Amino acid sequence: MINGSGGGEAFGPGAILALFRQGQARTRADLVRLTGLARSTITQRLDALFAAGLLVPDGESASTGGRPPTQFKFNASGGVLLIADIGASHLRCAVTDLAGIVLAEEAGGLDVAAGPHVVLDQVSTSFEALLRASGRSPKDVHGIGTAVPGPVEFATGRVVSPPIMTGWDGFDIPGYFAERYTCPTLVDNDVNAMAFGEQRACWPQHRDMLLIKLGTGVGCGIIANGELYRGARGAAGDLGHIPYSGEGGPVCRCGNIGCVEAYAGGWALIRDLRALGHDVQSSSDVVRLIRAGQPDAVRLARQAGRVVGQAISDAVSFFNPSLVVIGGQLAHADEPLLAGIREVVYRRSLPLATRDLQITTSKLDERAGVTGLALMLGDHIFAPHAIDRALGADNVNSHPENATLVTLHDQETVP
Ligand SMILES: [Zn+2]
Repeated sequence: MINGSGGGEAFGPGAILALFRQGQARTRADLVRLTGLARSTITQRLDALFAAGLLVPDGESASTGGRPPTQFKFNASGGVLLIADIGASHLRCAVTDLAGIVLAEEAGGLDVAAGPHVVLDQVSTSFEALLRASGRSPKDVHGIGTAVPGPVEFATGRVVSPPIMTGWDGFDIPGYFAERYTCPTLVDNDVNAMAFGEQRACWPQHRDMLLIKLGTGVGCGIIANGELYRGARGAAGDLGHIPYSGEGGPVCRCGNIGCVEAYAGGWALIRDLRALGHDVQSSSDVVRLIRAGQPDAVRLARQAGRVVGQAISDAVSFFNPSLVVIGGQLAHADEPLLAGIREVVYRRSLPLATRDLQITTSKLDERAGVTGLALMLGDHIFAPHAIDRALGADNVNSHPENATLVTLHDQETVP
């Protein structure tokens, strides 16, 4: 039994649905074992979820000869999610099912400094094309997830004082999509989305984890005790703007001197390689030179690794994670960069903090952000309290869509 309470109100239909979404339950017998609820109560809960289209029969034990199905699963294909992972210079948009499996996606270049209207119009166009490609329509959309390369006030979905996102300060991203879609919109920082996706999909056993994104800039997502840690104002993990040096250091994009990313961000490596006469335009050009073994590029990558490594080692001493995942475009540089990071982290951090510490590259790679947003969005849309409210308000025989059209922030049911 899950909470040892003997069941009861803790296991409303929403909590029952969560057991299916998490893969813990497939049958009535599983539910009896996990919840301690009476069989009659379980049947009632299942009937409500089944009628709302949230559960469907599963596998060969599906309804035959008039007998009720004995195995169920979460109805992941009952709708779709629209996801946009907005980076400083890249955009990846996807349509996923309700369990976060990508059905269609496209990626391309982007200039986030062009401002919210230009960027979100580009996202919107991509969403329409992807919906068409996956044979879905706007009314199938149950939620929109957007990640941006700056701090976000998570409760309102507003961007807060972003250093590199010109024109975005205070912009209401959910408000923009509310003009086009009637579903909830969730907004988070890009690195938070990556950390959430990587932990949930690949490393669920690691409950204290850092994800370091090395792309155009440098950022850090924090999973503390199994939960995403965003900080008081959504600015937790701003590793890129921790000072590495003072007077005489390079000027950072944020206006300060000697920040970590002024040495180790993709833009800084481009700057340094150009100064040495190399023709590089993007972080992927930098990675190509490093992987080709070009001596200047390899030396700069190793130095960048050491700079980032120093910031990570401070974070490791302070936070004691069991896993550090390196993601973002520059993670493709592999050994020179990782060697620099490992060298400094294991040398500088306290032995107790590094005894069981793993440092590795992202498994989800360029899909980490999209996956994280979709999983996060699913957790919000199908949160037990939201499901209980939606089903309770509309009684057991509610129309399928009513069960899931619950907004994230004000909890009103969207008409
Ligand atoms: Zn800075």
